[in-house]
Amino acid sequence: MGRRRRRKVIKRVVRVLPKVFPCVLCGRRSVSVNIDKSRGIAIVVCSSCGARGEVEVKPYMSIVDAYGAWTDMVYSGKLNLGEVGGS
Ligand SMILES: [Zn+2]
Repeated sequence: MGRRRRRKVIKRVVRVLPKVFPCVLCGRRSVSVNIDKSRGIAIVVCSSCGARGEVEVKPYMSIVDAYGAWTDMVYSGKLNLGEVGGS
């Protein structure tokens, strides 16, 4: 049995978290999420259509979770998208 030793190929899967997400409103991949941990919110901004929103985030939530929460808000109509700008 001259079995050749199979070299184990160790694939390093480096998961790079996406920094931009597809926008549910304009369809472009231009949504960025910034988590403000001190305030416990994430600021979601689409640089393409200007949609933005702030979602509440828990300390264990990542930007992906925050993005998901934002899309939920958009779909459920909780997000007031008519008022862009101003604070
Ligand atoms: Zn957009």
